[in-house]
Amino acid sequence: MGIDRRTFLHGSALAVAGLAMSATSAAADTDWARLRRRLGSRLVLPRDSGYDTLRLPFNTVYAHRRPAAIARCVRPEDVQACLGFASHHRIPVAARSGRHSYAAYSVPENGLVVDVSALNDVRFHGTDVRVGSGTRLGDLYETIGAHGRAVPGGTCKSVGIGGLTLGGGIGVIARKYGLTCDNLLSARIVTPDGCLRTVSAHSEPDLFWALRGGGGGNFGIVTSFTFRSVPAPDITRFLLLYPEGATADVVDAWQEWFAGAPDELWGICETLSGTPTSTAVGGTYLGPAKDLHPLLDRMPAATKREVQEMSYLEAMRFYAGGDETGVPFVASSRMAYDHVPGARVDELLRGGSRYRIQFDSFGGALGRVAPDATAFPHRRARASAQCYVNVVDGRTEAQGRAILASLRDGLGTGTTGYVNYIDPEMPDWAHAYYGGNLPRLRKVARRYDPDRVLAFAQGL
Ligand SMILES: Cc1cc2nc3c(=O)[nH]c(=O)nc-3n(C[C@H](O)[C@H](O)[C@H](O)COP(=O)(O)OP(=O)(O)OC[C@H]3O[C@@H](n4cnc5c(N)ncnc54)[C@H](O)[C@@H]3O)c2cc1C
Repeated sequence: MGIDRRTFLHGSALAVAGLAMSATSAAADTDWARLRRRLGSRLVLPRDSGYDTLRLPFNTVYAHRRPAAIARCVRPEDVQACLGFASHHRIPVAARSGRHSYAAYSVPENGLVVDVSALNDVRFHGTDVRVGSGTRLGDLYETIGAHGRAVPGGTCKSVGIGGLTLGGGIGVIARKYGLTCDNLLSARIVTPDGCLRTVSAHSEPDLFWALRGGGGGNFGIVTSFTFRSVPAPDITRFLLLYPEGATADVVDAWQEWFAGAPDELWGICETLSGTPTSTAVGGTYLGPAKDLHPLLDRMPAATKREVQEMSYLEAMRFYAGGDETGVPFVASSRMAYDHVPGARVDELLRGGSRYRIQFDSFGGALGRVAPDATAFPHRRARASAQCYVNVVDGRTEAQGRAILASLRDGLGTGTTGYVNYIDPEMPDWAHAYYGGNLPRLRKVARRYDPDRVLAFAQGL
């Protein structure tokens, strides 16, 4: 993910651990033949060919995970059968859409993976678009872009719409049109009682509220989403490269710049570890280059300014990146509600190798939604700050996590974080991800999953 291209449960932990241990023996004793009679070869067990490839998460730090079975669902009824089976046998179960969970929560050890990636139909109904929950972002953009339409989403083509939407969905047109979840009109979801429900502002509104930012893996398994689409905007992409050592000044200037920026402007400020540290600023403007240049002039002079007009689809292809099969990393985030001193960022990154902090601009339309209007609480943040450490070059996961903790906690930005950058070691994770929305979210989770069929380490 280079700077020049995409620069850019209600119980105790002990209760969860106990559940996982009893589930291990439950999975071994499970009569998988029953589910196999229903799914045929679409139920993949460890002895089946393809298992070792199919089980892999995107984050290869978790490549050792061995689920008891992977169910390749092609219709909502398959999902119903899987949830009923997992509930009956008391085995861990998780939905998997694009498999990009930072902590690989979509691949439960000794559990059942309910893979919905074949539920990937994208269909317009007027200007609303129904999207199968397993659709990858790249495929979504190709289809809706061809219709001259857009839905706000993220920037990597292999990320699934499932996890992205349920956690919020930050992307290049979010300051103009909101988060992905802000554009959700309804969803079809199989709840742990086996019901396939259609939820919207008018039907089961509490569950609909919870699906918009309450995090993947909670409440049920979504089979499709219906989004409002907007006319695809013309985009000007930009990249500003700065000399080494300019990090502190650029980080300070970037935050000030966005405090007064129009909704049409979105950007990231990526800061890389090193001696000295380095920084680049990139982003998009929804309008022509001639209107962007005066805005760019307000930033410190860059050694290189790259500006390119393109269609929405071209821009989404640009940000989509290549076909990455998997990457080993540990990552976390904080929400920046106040100015983060650039000098502090520079100090955190100085002297290290292959880690970074990436600020992503908030504000605009996404910031004008009330923090309790959807489950996504961080509406008043000025930016998200993602901390990312590559686990490469002999670095162990434990070493990576130590660096990560120093970045995350060294930022001094309080105790909040983005659930889609889920960090298994996030202190006080439930409050960090959900803030004031936590009590209502837990109530919804208890109502729809009273037996905690969907329990996982950071589940509601
Ligand atoms: C390379 C990369 C780029 C990214 N870019 C962005 C970005 O631009 N913007 C952004 O906001 N985030 C981004 N993310 C974070 C991303 O939004 C989360 O990792 C998200 O959870 C991934 O969803 P998924 O469906 O791909 O993953 P999965 O691993 O399949 O699922 C993630 C979580 O959601 C649950 N889940 C999946 N499908 C369903 C379903 N149908 N119903 C219920 N629960 C479900 C899973 O059980 C798991 O807990 C990026 C992540 C990576 C690795």
